[in-house]
Amino acid sequence: MRNNSSFLSFASLQSLPSMGRSNSLIWFRKGLRIHDNPALEYACKDSNHLYPLFVLDPHFLAPDPSAFSPGSARSGLNRIQFLLESLIDLDSSLKKLGSRLLLFRGDPVQILVRLLKQWNIGKLCFEYDTDPYSQVRDQQVKDFASLSGIEVFSPVTHTLFNPADVIQKEEFSPFRGGESEALKRLKQSLDDKEWVANFEKPKGDPSAFLKPATTILSPYLKFGCLSSRYFYKCVNDVYKKVKKHTSPPVSLVGQLLWREFFYTVAFGTPNFDQMKGNRICKQIPWNDDDDLLVAWREGRTGYPWIDAIMIQLRTWGWMHHLARHSVACFLTRGDLFIHWERGRDVFERLLVDSDWAINNGNWLWLSCSSFFYQYNRIYSPTSFGKKYDPNGNYIRHFLPVLKDMPKEYIYEPWSAPLSIQTKANCIIGKDYPKPVVQHDPASKECRRKMGEAYGLNRVKDGLVSEEDLKSLKRKLEEDVNRNSEIRSQKQKLP
Ligand SMILES: Cc1cc2nc3c(=O)[nH]c(=O)nc-3n(C[C@H](O)[C@H](O)[C@H](O)COP(=O)(O)OP(=O)(O)OC[C@H]3O[C@@H](n4cnc5c(N)ncnc54)[C@H](O)[C@@H]3O)c2cc1C
Repeated sequence: MRNNSSFLSFASLQSLPSMGRSNSLIWFRKGLRIHDNPALEYACKDSNHLYPLFVLDPHFLAPDPSAFSPGSARSGLNRIQFLLESLIDLDSSLKKLGSRLLLFRGDPVQILVRLLKQWNIGKLCFEYDTDPYSQVRDQQVKDFASLSGIEVFSPVTHTLFNPADVIQKEEFSPFRGGESEALKRLKQSLDDKEWVANFEKPKGDPSAFLKPATTILSPYLKFGCLSSRYFYKCVNDVYKKVKKHTSPPVSLVGQLLWREFFYTVAFGTPNFDQMKGNRICKQIPWNDDDDLLVAWREGRTGYPWIDAIMIQLRTWGWMHHLARHSVACFLTRGDLFIHWERGRDVFERLLVDSDWAINNGNWLWLSCSSFFYQYNRIYSPTSFGKKYDPNGNYIRHFLPVLKDMPKEYIYEPWSAPLSIQTKANCIIGKDYPKPVVQHDPASKECRRKMGEAYGLNRVKDGLVSEEDLKSLKRKLEEDVNRNSEIRSQKQKLP
């Protein structure tokens, strides 16, 4: 045994055959095995001589008498023992294959650099390692190898999937922050004068994600990277150059006026961001159901249109206005009857353009708590999206689990026969959830509750107390129980 970087071979170097450029070196670190070892297999392929190497690295193994247990700086005795046993076992496996494990001690980079030259290695193989220390170490060895024209093979075999690939597949918001980007995006939108002149909301396509239907200037307006006053002036300049253009509330200027509207009303309304004590907010006995809220928040309602929107929210932090309508309606008065404040909180956290006045204002609107009162008009979680995107491309993009579902079933995959689900590699209830509620009865129930709540608000003329709300909630629950009893009695009748 020599000092630093010493050779502790289980075999003698002299016994190794003469060296040529087709020599390979398999550098063991983790991956202390013969079975399923692509790095070892590749090292053996077409090579004259194979050098199996392990380096005892002082970074991990230098003795440290000051450590709180016997062992090295980073390892207790049990793990060191386990490592040594694994090396002995690896050596005996290699021996059966006519080779031996070559064991060195010292700085791995120095040792590798020396041996690659000394043994005239043409191919260096080792299992990919993601730990930060290993990344730096391996990069140094790879740099030397590539300068010396040595082939390096470093497969990912310690994990089932390559963590780098998995991270790359995660979608991030495609919108970059900053004034420069805001002005660039504004110019791009306004350069198309015809588009500006004909802008008409809510006519845009909420499922368009490759080229969204609106400006996506909301995050820049939220952070003030773009001045709303400048935006307003530029749009009006475009209007002067075209023969005719749309008008508020549907035009592009109209959108900025909606923004003004919500800012003004929010500023002038005490408790604007809550139901309680908010004089413009209808008092509604919303349900509390954490499981349903989580299913909605995580994109697991079983309604692909709703879930895809919620995944776009999570990954991009932005969705089209009508997509926001769909999910806000679904959570509140459309299907789940959950409090708009809970949905507001989720949007507030995840939207890149999250804006106190506009977010609260729109949740009040969509839940029919204020501004908009036609609670009978409910967005269908199946047919609304289909109108714009019959093939379901938006769903396939944001919910890849459904990417092979035939278009006939993409909005209602639970209705697909099992053979189709199997072919599409997506079994409903296993790979993708079953619907958390049935839309038709759930929305009917929501309408009924909204009707009762509106009645109460009318009678109490805006002075609904907590006690009134509680007793309405009790009544609604009793009605539900009674109706389900009547239903089950009817079902029992011959
Ligand atoms: C439940 C719900 C929550 C929302 N939360 C937010 C939020 O937190 N922040 C936010 O900026 N918008 C919010 N909106 C409004 C609207 O959806 C976004 O402003 C719009 O989708 C942003 O995209 P855009 O910039 O491409 O809009 P464009 O259609 O290009 O409009 C240009 C600008 O006009 C303003 N604007 C457009 N629509 C509205 C609207 N309905 N109310 C107020 N201002 C509007 C925005 O500043 C927008 O950037 C919400 C809508 C709903 C239904």
